[in-house]
Amino acid sequence: ATATGSAHAALHARHQAVLPDWLATYYARPIELTHGAGRYVWDAEGNRYLDFFGGILTTMTAHALPEVTAAVTEQAGRILHTSTLYLSRQAVELAERIAQLSGIPDARVFFTTSGTEANDTALLLATTYRRSNQVLALRNSYHGRSFTSIGITGNSAWSPTSLSPLQTLYVHGGVRTRGPYAHLTDAEFTDACVADLEDLLGQANGTVAALIAEPVQGVGGFTSGPDGLLAAFKRVLDRHGILWITDEVQTGWGRTGDHFWGWQAHDQAGPPDILTFAKGIGNGLSMGGVVARAEVMNCLGANSISTFGGSPITTAGALANLTYLLDHDLQGNARRVGGLLRARLDAVAARSGIVREVRGRGLMLGVELVEPGTDTPSPAAAALVLEAARERGLLIGKGGRDGNALRIAPPLSLTVTEAEEGAAALGEALAAAQAELGKPAEGGTR
Ligand code: PMP
Repeated sequence: ATATGSAHAALHARHQAVLPDWLATYYARPIELTHGAGRYVWDAEGNRYLDFFGGILTTMTAHALPEVTAAVTEQAGRILHTSTLYLSRQAVELAERIAQLSGIPDARVFFTTSGTEANDTALLLATTYRRSNQVLALRNSYHGRSFTSIGITGNSAWSPTSLSPLQTLYVHGGVRTRGPYAHLTDAEFTDACVADLEDLLGQANGTVAALIAEPVQGVGGFTSGPDGLLAAFKRVLDRHGILWITDEVQTGWGRTGDHFWGWQAHDQAGPPDILTFAKGIGNGLSMGGVVARAEVMNCLGANSISTFGGSPITTAGALANLTYLLDHDLQGNARRVGGLLRARLDAVAARSGIVREVRGRGLMLGVELVEPGTDTPSPAAAALVLEAARERGLLIGKGGRDGNALRIAPPLSLTVTEAEEGAAALGEALAAAQAELGKPAEGGTR
């Protein structure tokens, strides 16, 4: 083995010895990233990768964006003291901009350090406001790793306990590929899910606090119901006074191209009551938050602080990142380059015998894999494609209820050339994985 090869093996062994067994890592031989620029990252062994996952969508604009680096460095050189006990110019400015962008009237903003903490806060608000610990969530959902957010996570692969303090009712609506409603049209699917919601509410034990939903399920494999489904849900919720929480941790900031927020594909019934965000806004800094109508945000009857939420350094970086995103119309770029990437992936999929479906919009695209020539989900294929893509210099993600969906979510500044480079590498990786699975590469099963 080379010197860097054995140094890597030693680091991996130490990682395995001291970090928990349940901490998921990608690849049989996990990657140690050392630096990045634009849409590319490099590992400790000098390999370059085109980044089609952005650390689960945390790299929103670009790697090592000079504007963000400058803002963070400037702030770090002045003061690192952090506390919500004092005023912060950039926290106020960032909150004002997010309140205005959120679409929620009379909005208040609270900063957190993660998506989990943002969703916990949203649940704290909704359950306190409604005086009920009963919540509705979508099947196949993922909302975080804390005790309460695990309780609303429907994806059992990410839900290690059933002892959550919340009582959760899971409604259909996130997954159309499989299950009892898979054969329905958009309108029929929407009606079936609304009927399911009404049925659940009929069984609920008194007051229900809120429905929380990802407009496009992230960990769930980039799946979603038809546009307007959540608006149809909201019309039912409004009759009962139930709050709508939109989890925009993956779908926010123009990621889906057509809309700035995922909820805007469902805006016919008006804005949500609570919106949560994280990941991309910090471009890698630990930043999340909650936006809510003032009446809901202010329902807590006791003091609260966050020592690190909205710190000068994360808000300075996030402000620079958001400014860059808006000034360069990266939502428009996500729509245009994402549309082209989608077309390339559709073409690649048509030549593959292991792709069942390409889905998603903007720069949030999922590819569902099956065993060659069948309709059976293949997590083995997804693992093989990830490894084969890495060998070809491409990083992608995976997910889905059965672990058989590829997740593609590059930084929103992706260029056309890079989209084509990535699609070509993915095409090769799919062919290599299919060959590995032992079947001849021929006509698609889509
Ligand atoms: N909500 C969604 C939709 C997510 O995808 C995630 C993270 N994968 C979270 C919440 C939790 O965010 P964090 O990991 O920052 O706690």
